[in-house]
Order: sequence, then structure tokens, then C-alpha cells
Amino acid sequence: MAANGGTDSATEPPGLETQRREIENLNRNQQLRAGDSWYLLDKRWYDQWKEYVDTGDQNSSSYPGKIDNAELFEDLDSYHLKERLAENEDFVLLPAEAWRKLLSWYDMMDDQPALERKVIDLPSTVKVEIYPVEVQLCLFSNLENTVTAQFSRADKIHAIQQHIRQQFMVSESSECRLWMRNTDTSSERLRNLNMTVLDVCLSSGMTVIMEIRNADGTWPTSRPQIMRNSAEDQDSYRGSPGVCGLTNLGNTCFMNSALQCLSNTPPLTEYFLKNLYLDELNFSNPLGMKGEIAEAYADVVKQMWSGRHFSVVPRVFKTKVGHFASQFLGYQQHDSQELLSFLLDGLHEDLNRVKKKEYIELRDADGRPDQEVAEEAWRNHLRRNDSVIVDTFHGLFKSTLVCPECHKVSVTFDPFCYLSVPLPVSKERVLEVFYVSLDPMAKPTQYRLIVPKAGRIFDLCSALTQATDVPPNQMAVADVFNHRFYRIFRPDESLSCILDRDDIFVYELSSGFLDQGSEEVLLAIYMRERSHYRDYGSGSNSYGTSLFGHPLLMSIPRTRCTRDDLYELFRERLTRYVRPLDPSEEVEEEEEAEDEEEEEEEELYTAQTNGVRDDEGEDDLEEAGPSKKVEEKQESAQTEEHSSGQLEASPNSEGEERAEEEERAEEESSSEQDRGSSTEEGQSACGSTDTNSQDATDGDQGAGAEPSGKEEEEEEEEEDGEGAAACIKPNTRPVGRRRCTEKPKKALFTIQMVNSNGTTERGTADVDGSFSFSSLTYIAIDWDPDMKKKYYNENEAEKYIKHPSMDIPHQQTIVQLQECIELFTTVETLEEENPWYCPMCKKHQLATKKLDLWSLPEVLIIHLKRFSYTKYSREKLDTVVDFPLRGLDFSDFLLKKTVNSDDPPCTYDLISVSNHYGGLRDGHYTSYARNKDNGQWYYFDDSKVTYAREEQIMTNAAYLLFYQRQDKIRQPSVPPPVPSTTQPVNHITAQTPDDVDGNSSCVSMETD
Ligand SMILES: [Zn+2]
Repeated sequence: MAANGGTDSATEPPGLETQRREIENLNRNQQLRAGDSWYLLDKRWYDQWKEYVDTGDQNSSSYPGKIDNAELFEDLDSYHLKERLAENEDFVLLPAEAWRKLLSWYDMMDDQPALERKVIDLPSTVKVEIYPVEVQLCLFSNLENTVTAQFSRADKIHAIQQHIRQQFMVSESSECRLWMRNTDTSSERLRNLNMTVLDVCLSSGMTVIMEIRNADGTWPTSRPQIMRNSAEDQDSYRGSPGVCGLTNLGNTCFMNSALQCLSNTPPLTEYFLKNLYLDELNFSNPLGMKGEIAEAYADVVKQMWSGRHFSVVPRVFKTKVGHFASQFLGYQQHDSQELLSFLLDGLHEDLNRVKKKEYIELRDADGRPDQEVAEEAWRNHLRRNDSVIVDTFHGLFKSTLVCPECHKVSVTFDPFCYLSVPLPVSKERVLEVFYVSLDPMAKPTQYRLIVPKAGRIFDLCSALTQATDVPPNQMAVADVFNHRFYRIFRPDESLSCILDRDDIFVYELSSGFLDQGSEEVLLAIYMRERSHYRDYGSGSNSYGTSLFGHPLLMSIPRTRCTRDDLYELFRERLTRYVRPLDPSEEVEEEEEAEDEEEEEEEELYTAQTNGVRDDEGEDDLEEAGPSKKVEEKQESAQTEEHSSGQLEASPNSEGEERAEEEERAEEESSSEQDRGSSTEEGQSACGSTDTNSQDATDGDQGAGAEPSGKEEEEEEEEEDGEGAAACIKPNTRPVGRRRCTEKPKKALFTIQMVNSNGTTERGTADVDGSFSFSSLTYIAIDWDPDMKKKYYNENEAEKYIKHPSMDIPHQQTIVQLQECIELFTTVETLEEENPWYCPMCKKHQLATKKLDLWSLPEVLIIHLKRFSYTKYSREKLDTVVDFPLRGLDFSDFLLKKTVNSDDPPCTYDLISVSNHYGGLRDGHYTSYARNKDNGQWYYFDDSKVTYAREEQIMTNAAYLLFYQRQDKIRQPSVPPPVPSTTQPVNHITAQTPDDVDGNSSCVSMETD
């Protein structure tokens, strides 16, 4: 019936009873299912309809007329739903079928829109979404031009993106990203297009902005700083894509070097340039970086390959890397290999096509054939790891462990991302030493010796024996620094104690190296020059002295330890450069007067000392003192013999060193003041050698160096009193610096027992004129300045001879890359720190381990382990590794033999190299890389890029090598450029130096 002017859409309704029953049934049976549509209907109209069908009178006045939802709308222009409408008060909800029936029977008033609403599945409930999210949409390029659109909370962000593309006619090929902006104008990236409106908390009133990537690879919102000739040239610069520097952000050359190698890896770069990564960004991988590393990397690569930039500032990328790997935070120097490893892992997880990793139990081979186990391992790997990184860089090696006890063999196949190959370590090293013969007239001779790297001091002596015929046990080896013995080595000490830069002296001795209790004693002899004036200011009772010349080591019989004997021995030993005394020289009276004066002071000090002696202090003192420091190369040169306690003979010596050490050990804070108060002894002899002293972690470090101030005198005396008591007689006045009873004869020099630094007198001869020596005793030969000038020939003393061995140049060793790969596959025994748990023995075992290459990736990264850290040494190996630029053939290294012709060939060409120059802690990274488009090699040094010739590439700086399998290498698509040798290729001639540094021309823009 169309009595009320029904339209075409209305059909003849059935009888009232039928209407009532059909609608009731549909309402009753309908469940809320997510995604279903329900319809809002004005409650008054619905009540009217119910009354109409209930009365059963088709002509009654209760006839409802056309469906009219007008009361639900705010106005009839926008058809916005009124706010805060309530179900069953303002409206009822009808399932879609019921709605369609009513609509067909009654039609709709005034072309009102149907109020279709979806059922959404919210975390706690399923319900019809009455109010959808209504947002503004616009493009970043024109924020004024917005359109309004409604989305369900269940809609995916992807739907919004598609809606904007349609509304603003953005082509599918242009790369875009979405932002949502709050009413407070804070913005947030909508990274994951698969999340729903509800997930990302997009709500009504917010704006969704679409940003479209610039042609130069930048984003309008986070335009990284770009180096350019000028702002105007930005668009006109057309360099070769990929030939683009990376600005150093402060010690970031390690990162730039690794990035250049990756950027010049064709399959990876094409993957990013073709936007294939967009579909594979993995936002949910807990092992990944929520896609952020992949996006940041994509940004850098797109800019580098846009051909519009001379250099890119990878600041955003660096921030992201630091964000996800705290070890790369800050700007200290790092290892390009560590960064590469992190980056390959981060990119892999960010782009992992496996969204949910299943647990896979790894099976041991258990005797199954390699082929079967390897295929199983690779399948399992792909079930959890599947990405462009796996496609490009992952290979498989076989690892075989054998238990040394039960001989259980365990075989596994493990994927790898790069090969870390060891460098053959030379077992020998070259040492240059000065040999000092017993012959007093012979000048020292400098030898170049080949010694075993892991050898001992004795091996050095043996090497010298071949040149000198002196038995090795008649040599003493010492490290000399600043006119004193920095260290005197025992024959069994490791040669690793000796650094290449050390000045090593080897002294011929008249007898074998001395044991404790030997009939001979070893004298370490220093030359000192007295200053003209006594140093009263310090409160010390000695002359100021300074060391000069070369020290000597002599072994002498204990029976010849009187002052006169020694004087004669020394005079004889110095014959070559010390002239005999003129007979006319006479005894100087003033010196005697001084001696008496000294004795008075000594007595005063002794009296004080006795009052405060503390026997308990002795051991602590020795502990904290020099003997403890022998372990450390940089520390005091005092040797163990010192701890015998025999050396200390006199209480009146200055003793700064040991007293200060004790004080430091006890109270670090006061030691600082002590440093400040030192006024004495301008000599350069000792402390400055302690390169570790700034560490200040150890209380007694660097102690030997510091002259003491007055406050310490008391402690010194106390301590020296101890020494004296230990070695002479208890409870007697220790023997002071008393001259022998006879009147001093005229002498060229005087003799003092001193500490190992030569700074402190330890006493002189006993009453009878003989010394009480321990097996190693330090002696100073003290010269009056006038006497030294007259009798000591400084020029002659410094002379030495170069042995012919010095003329043989030190050869740089060259090893083949193939040797390194062989080493990688050599059987090794696991180290104690890293044992293997044997399932048969049920305990950890030091198994033997062998690695074999099974299958290789398209791009093979070889890491040359130049940084060698062992328990015993840390060094950077500068061995030249000879690596081929073309045709590196792995067929001999692959365990899996090529069975059929489908298997890829295994010859590789070099595509890039990361270089490291410098030593362990400092250094600079650069890279060589071959441009995939024009085939030209370039040298990348931060922001500077220059042409490179192939013969330049192989150096001892090569650290990471990137090889690509030959069958995957594509011919250059553009002709190679004509290299200009004078100009960096990424800089145009007009550029100013400032531009090169990236200072003045960096345009800083807003970043995200
Ligand atoms: Zn076992």
C-alpha cells in the first residue's frame, strides 16, 4: 500500500501481525558479532510502529508514517548525530535485516541517511559503536585544506591512508607516512598501518596528516641536515647516486664507515630504494626496534642515493641506534664491526617476515648425514628468521665438538651473518736492545734481535748470546727510563713485559744472575749530580741531586763491599768516560764540616723516630710499598728483593717515597695535599713515567714520583728506623750517614745507597767502611758539579755502536686471506672460560671445536680480527692481508661440494672495505666501495668522497671485507665517470672549506 505517497523503494508491507512477528524474531535472535552492521532508529517512531502493529488496525491513527530519525540529528544539513543519545531512550538498535525490512515497508523521511553502525570488539566488551571517530584529514603540504571523515574504532590505519589518497589524489607510488595530531598540536607518527583506530588512540577531533617523501629522500617534517653548496643548489646538484659523504658527528667515523659498506651492498640498497621494506616493517617483533632502525636506515640510504646531496648528516639514524643500543650512545669511538653486527641484527628483526616466532627445538645430528642436518637447520632458521638480511647475508657453518673424555661428537649447523677470521699471529717479534759489555772501554752496542713472542727474558739473552758469545746467564736485562732502572727483569719473566718503545739495556755480568744468598750482589748504579746548594727549604738534610747518564748493572763479590773497594770498582768501570783524578787535587775541608753538621741532624731525627716507632707498621708498609707494584709495568721499578728488608740501613734518609706511599694507602685524601706541598727535588727522574697515575684508582700509584713536604718527615723517620732495625741490630741507634772514621780522601765522587728511584739515600757504609747489601742494591754515584764538569766526559758516555743487525729492515708480514679462512676452520680447544657441556659426561668439558663452512650467502662479510684481546695481551695486528678484488674462490673451503649445476657458484668479487687506521684506543675509520651503478671505486672518508684506484684498496688497514657472489653482480648501468684526481668527487669546485666541514652550510630544520 502506497497510501502515504511511498517511493519506489517501499514495497507493499505484509499484514500487521506478520510485521510484528518478523521484526520481533529478528531482534530476538540477533547476536552482536564484531563487524556486523546495526541501525539506529528513533525510539518514538519505533514505539509508534509497535502500537500500530499491536492494535492490528491498518487504518488506525497510530500509523507511524515514513521512518524519521530527525530527532537524532543535530541538524538536517550535516546529519551529525546528537551527542549523548541513549539507547532505548532516544533510539533503538536494529539488526541489519530488521532495519532493511522496516525500510522497505515504510521508507525514509526526506532522504535522511541510514544510521548504520558497526559492532566492534573492544578489549572488555562487544558493542555497537554508536559514535564513530570523526577526524580531520589533510596533507602536510597544505594543512589548511582539511576534510572530515568518520572511521570506526575497528578500522585499520591503512583504511585512513587509502581514504586520504583518494580524497587528495595522492598516487599509490608516492611514499608517504601518517601523523596524528592532537588538539594540543602534539604529533605522533602512525607507524603501523595494521593497527586499528582504537589501538593508536585516534579519537574524534584529531587530525590525520599525510606526509609525502621529497624527491631527495628527505621527509618534509624531519628534514635532516644536508650538506650543500648553497641552499639554491640543493635541487640542482646531480651527483652520482650513492656517491655521497656522511658527516662526522664527533667520533662517528666508525658508523659512517659501516654505513658506506652497507649502502654499497646492491641487493640491500635496492630493497630500500624500491620501497620493498614498507610492506615488511615488523612493528610487533619484541626483538626488533619497532621498525624504527629500518626506517631510519631507509632515510639515510634514500638520501645518499638521491643524487642530490654532497653529504648527509645521519643524526636521526645515530640517535635511533643509540636509543636501541646504549653502547653506541654518546660520541666515543667504537668499532665499526660491532656497529655493523648490531645494525644487521636490528634491520633483520625490524624487517623479519616472521611475525610470530615459534619455538623450535634444535636437534643434534646424531650421526645423520650432513646434507640432511644442514637442510633441517636452514629450514628451522627460516621458520624464525626470514628477511632481506637473511636473504643477503646469512650463510651456514657446521660446528663439530668432540668431548676429550668420552669422545662424544656433537654436530650442529648454525647460521652466520659474517665470518670473523683470525689473523695468523707472528710467533716472533723484533726487539732492539743496547748491550753493555763488561769491558769498560767498550761502547754499548745496539742490536736488533728476533725473539719468540711468547718467550721469556732468558730467550732474549739467548738471542744475544749468538751475537756476543756471552752466556745468557751472565746477562741482566733492564728497562731504562730517565737515567734510572724502570725495571730489572728476572730471567723467567715474560717478554710481553717489554713494549716496543721501551729502552732495553742488557748488561754483561761477571757471574751468573744472582740468587738471594749468593756470594755476589747485583748493584744498580745511578749517576747523580749534586746541586750547588743544600736544600734547606724542604727540611731535608741532603743536597738536591739529579740523575744523569746511563745507569749500570754490576755484580760484585760480597767480600768487596767496602767503600774503598767500590770506589775502585766504579772508577774502573767508568774509565771510558771518566778521567783519572789529578794528583794535585786535595781534600776539601768544608766537606768535613758539612759532615758534622749532618750528623747533628741525624741524631735529632733519630731521637724523634725512636719515640714513635711502631713495629706493627712494618708489614703493611711493605705490602703497600713497591713490592706490590711490580706487577704493573708502569709502576715503580722496585723489585721483589726489596722486601727482604735488608736494604734499609739508615734512619736519616729522606724516605719520601715509602712514607708517602704509606700515607696514601692509609688516607688518600691527604695524599693530594702532599702533592701540592712538594717543593723539593726538581729532578725529572721518576714520577713522570707513571702514565697510570692520573687514574688514581690505586692509592699507592705514582708514589715514587712525588717529593714530600715537611709534614711527612715524622713518618719517614719512623719507617726508616724500622728498616734499620731489621737489618742491623735491634734496639741500638741505627747507623747513620756516618762517614768512616778515617778522614775522607779526595775522591771523584761519593757513593750512596739509594732507593730504586735514586731519589732517596738509604745509608752508606757501616762503621768499618763496608756496606751491608741485599742481593740487589741501588747505589748512587754522586758527583759534585765542578768535579763532574772536570772529569766526566758526557759526550763519550753517550756514545754507542750500531750492530749490523740494525740495518736489516723489519719486514712487514703479508698473509693471504685464504690463510685466515683456513685458520677459521682449524681445530681449536675451547678455553677454560667457555667450556662445552657434554651431554654424555654430564659436565663441562674443554672440547675440541672445528668450524666448517657449509653454505655461503650472496654477500659475504669477512671480519679480519685485527683487535686481539687475550688474557695476556691486547694488541692491534697491522698484518697486511692480501685479499683478491675478484674471483675469491671458496670451493676449497666449502664442506658442501657442488652436487648439481643448480647450486650457485662460489666465487666472489670485492664490493667494499671498512678500514681502520691507528691503534687500539684511537684511530680512524674510512671505507672503499664500488658504486653499483657505474662500477667505479670510491674512497669514503666521512663527508669527503674521492675516486679510488683498485691498487689502493689492499692495505694493512682493511678491517671488514664485503664480497658479492659473482653471478649476482650486475653490469654497471651507467658508464664510469672520468676521475679527476684533484677534487673530491662529491664536492663542487666553488665550495668553501667551511662547507667541507659541514659547519656553515648545514641547514638545521625541525626534526622528529
Ligand atoms: Zn663427554
